[in-house]
Amino acid sequence: MSLIRHFINGREVADAQRTGPVFNPATGEQQHEVAFASVGEVEQAIAAASAALPGWRATGLIKRADVFFKLRHLLVERQGELAAILTSEHGKVLSDAAGEISRGIENVEFAAGLVHLLKGEHSEQVARGVDVHSLKQPVGVVGAITPFNFPVMVPLWMVASAIACGNTVVLKPSEKDPSAAIFLAKLFQEAGLPDGVLNVVHGDKVAVDAILDSPDVRAVSFVGSTPIAKSIYERASANGKRVQALGGAKNHMVVMPDADLEGAADAAVSAAYGSAGERCMAVSVLVAVGEVADDLVEAVRSRMGALVIGDGTDAASEMGPLITREHRDKVASYVTGASAEGATVVVDGTIQRFDGDGFFVGVSLLDRVKPGMKVYDDEIFGPVLSVVRVESYEEAVALINANRFANGTAIFTRDGGTARQFEFDIEVGMVGVNVPIPVPIGAYSFGGWKNSLFGDSHIYGPESVHFYTRSKVVTTRWPNPSESQVNLGFPSNH
Ligand code: NAD
Repeated sequence: MSLIRHFINGREVADAQRTGPVFNPATGEQQHEVAFASVGEVEQAIAAASAALPGWRATGLIKRADVFFKLRHLLVERQGELAAILTSEHGKVLSDAAGEISRGIENVEFAAGLVHLLKGEHSEQVARGVDVHSLKQPVGVVGAITPFNFPVMVPLWMVASAIACGNTVVLKPSEKDPSAAIFLAKLFQEAGLPDGVLNVVHGDKVAVDAILDSPDVRAVSFVGSTPIAKSIYERASANGKRVQALGGAKNHMVVMPDADLEGAADAAVSAAYGSAGERCMAVSVLVAVGEVADDLVEAVRSRMGALVIGDGTDAASEMGPLITREHRDKVASYVTGASAEGATVVVDGTIQRFDGDGFFVGVSLLDRVKPGMKVYDDEIFGPVLSVVRVESYEEAVALINANRFANGTAIFTRDGGTARQFEFDIEVGMVGVNVPIPVPIGAYSFGGWKNSLFGDSHIYGPESVHFYTRSKVVTTRWPNPSESQVNLGFPSNH
């Protein structure tokens, strides 16, 4: 069994005093051991990032951009290899893994445009002989802490922009599927990134806290569950750092009576059960408005039996296993407890049996779900879709706006006026109109509201340039020495 090590200053290292298991979720077998970093190892990574910072921030923009052009090429070339790593440790099917990588490549393409992104502004003659210009400078060493569900895309959300902006990074990926981060770090190295600019440390709370408490780390990007996001936000900001901490979700998809029912059912099934529901933008609540409910529930149910669940390496599989045995059992417990809470179990995926010891569970559909039930209030993060029946558009909006999560939402309708009103009314960070998973392209930024994001910057895209840079404004005058005089008044430009 191989040991997955840290990547510090361009080399794989580990004292491996503590380790954790890495499973293949499709077989249930442990396939690797991952080293858990000690405080000392995290400090080594931060020291390597600090030492690399002056050289990297002084590197010319064209040369920096060149790394991202090369990295894009390498990612495309080795997409299959990387997808296989994702599938073997995360469990998602190979086509889904390839999709994740291609979304991550968008962030690399955005970063390759850094020469444009880092332009400042210039105002000539703000007063007689006085000019002003602004600069965007790196914040310094950035900590990046990522979840298990997108082991390539989410690290790229952070490290591409952070590095493009001239920062150096210590990445702490999920300990459940850590190999992809090492693969990425080596590709960056192959693309010409100097050693120490991107370091990877594995581990748990010990490693994360060492990042949050280090005075040499100036900004922290986090993506994960809401309780951890909140605690990361509080601890890092108490330590004077800039923080963005993206949390969990409960994404509602509203189906209006005028929607194309078959199209809406296709979208709901795809968005609820794709990647076994382990996407922060997965649809977990279907809001059926008015008379559409019975037909919609039947249209969704009728599609579920045909879904092929199996090992992600099998090209026929549409959905793979969950990440761990414990998580699979937790997801199943929501379904088995649903009828006692008053929900109607239309399809119980927990009774489906699978060969072997993989962490599989079937797909479930719950009807007549209401706020106050655990299946509605909690983020389940599995292949469980709950239907909430409401009478009107207003009731649908009130339901969504009362939810503590506000990552993504969607409306399915053929009425442009209703769609526009939804866009205006809804208190959620990312909205789809007849699009169930509205993850913005790399040229925009990604982020939820309320308990789905702590901090004030969304991730990747233009807001990431703001997050990973400090602005500086320079006021310049080249006076004629003969005109110089003492003046104790406050400088006025009038
Ligand atoms: P998680 O919160 O358990 O872990 C995320 C990271 O935090 C991991 O690197 C983990 O090692 C670390 N961590 C875990 N416990 C910690 C602790 N007590 N102290 C410090 N660090 C700790 O999340 P997960 O299970 O890996 O990922 C799934 C969650 O992430 C879901 O809630 C999902 O909605 C969310 N997510 C959100 C987004 C988004 O953009 N909002 C994107 C992807 C995933």
